[in-house]
Amino acid sequence: MTDAPAPQDRDSTTAVHRVGNAARGVSYEEPLLFERSRPGRVGFELRELDVPAVDPAEVLGEAAIRSEVAGLPELSEVEVVRHFTRISTWNYAVDLGPYPLGSCTMKYNPKLNEVASRLPGFANAHPLQPEALSQGLLALIHELEQHLAEVSGMDRVSLQPAAGAQGELAGIMMIRAYHEQRGDRRSKVLIPDSAHGTNPASAALNGYDTVSVPSGPDGLLHPSAVAAAMSEDVAALMLTNPNTLGLFEEHIVEICEIVHAKGGLVYGDGANLNAILGIARPGDLGIDVMHFNLHKTFSTPHGGGGPGAGPVGVKHLLAPHLPVPVVRRQDESEGGGFTLDYEFPRSIGRLHGNFGNVGMLVRALAYIRSLGPAGLRRCAEMAVVNANYLLARLAEEYPPATRGHVMHECVLTDRRLEAHGVTTLDVAKRLIDHGYHPPTIYFPLIVPGALMIEPTESESLEGLDRLADALLDIAREAREEPERVRGAPHHTRLARLDETRAARRPILRWQPAGSE
Ligand SMILES: *Cc1c(COP(=O)(O)O)cnc(C)c1O
Repeated sequence: MTDAPAPQDRDSTTAVHRVGNAARGVSYEEPLLFERSRPGRVGFELRELDVPAVDPAEVLGEAAIRSEVAGLPELSEVEVVRHFTRISTWNYAVDLGPYPLGSCTMKYNPKLNEVASRLPGFANAHPLQPEALSQGLLALIHELEQHLAEVSGMDRVSLQPAAGAQGELAGIMMIRAYHEQRGDRRSKVLIPDSAHGTNPASAALNGYDTVSVPSGPDGLLHPSAVAAAMSEDVAALMLTNPNTLGLFEEHIVEICEIVHAKGGLVYGDGANLNAILGIARPGDLGIDVMHFNLHKTFSTPHGGGGPGAGPVGVKHLLAPHLPVPVVRRQDESEGGGFTLDYEFPRSIGRLHGNFGNVGMLVRALAYIRSLGPAGLRRCAEMAVVNANYLLARLAEEYPPATRGHVMHECVLTDRRLEAHGVTTLDVAKRLIDHGYHPPTIYFPLIVPGALMIEPTESESLEGLDRLADALLDIAREAREEPERVRGAPHHTRLARLDETRAARRPILRWQPAGSE
């Protein structure tokens, strides 16, 4: 504590480095811009007025004018730049290192896609710009819809939903609209016990009761289990393939047939599409409606609450229920341009303002066009090879939850660490000290002590080896020095938030000089 910097030192870079070393048990918070504010300090200078002065009240109306703006922080430019640059360094990002967060497909986002999304014609397009001035964007939407339909084997795609979960919501809304329009009242949705939590949530939001279908001992969904649960009261089965154990649902064709035979539809959770890109198409396997996570499979940056996009694809039978507006290409006789079509009386309506999260759509198209069909297939192949390589290197210390090969991710367990009093959470926290974002833990829920690792295709062989070495090192440490693992992380700015015991380590708060 003696070498903790005095508050007034905190502006200098050295001070920031010193407080950054939390291994000594000292951690500080970066003061808020509001706390750093000093009256009258500014970061801009306005030019002399060189046009005739206008009374704003006359233009905007008296009610829109405030005489005083109180409570905004007042700072110089360099203070703001340093504040945000400092806090940006506390974050972990896929641009810093591997991010093996299973199920999330945190792959590298090629910078080319960023360049494309910042092209002024896309980035500065006004959401309410008329169709005639939005032809380029509408063409992009139309083209991306067709690529996604091609990749997935679906007939139509809507890019509106803003996330996978909203794509699910849209899909189940369309399934409900389809049954209701046929006068067929159904009350249940079947969901395997390995499913992501958004699946039952989407079904429940549509007023369906969810029925959990148990997976077999091999981690797969079996036709017999689906047949036993299936009835004419079941609106749909929601299926993730490959599933959340990283296994390809081998019986999918038969399972879809069982559901269809009783008049139900099959929803495909496409979050794991990265494993089968260019190799298998959900639409060919019997899926009627599915979502894509552009922010997982198609390289859009995500995590930390950034925007996403969860387009939804459907077979012809659900197309009348797609969200509106639908982008339509006119016939040559109409001019051959693109228009927005609202004439879908059985549509589930609008799900997002304007065209959805357009920046994500530009990135996805740039990604698909720059890789091409062979490149997309190579993504899937490398993602699968990488996951199996890690599985093979780690299996002895972290026994896999499944037998044999996996697809794009592997689910390992902490079974061998239990004896040393080390939990999955401890391993995850210790991995942060090695400079990695931890994998997903305790999911899927059916695997006790699960570590779900998805390396993605972005990692090199050496990168995978370093990650494997770090995890093996933690396993050794768990045997020899379990306290060290239990107390991790040791090198981060803040120590572990105590999730289990209510004990709180005091965090020193910065005080403006002389405020006490
Ligand atoms: C990520 C994910 C979702 C939800 O997608 P969001 O874009 O996060 O809403 C659904 N299912 C699975 C299997 C997922 O991995």
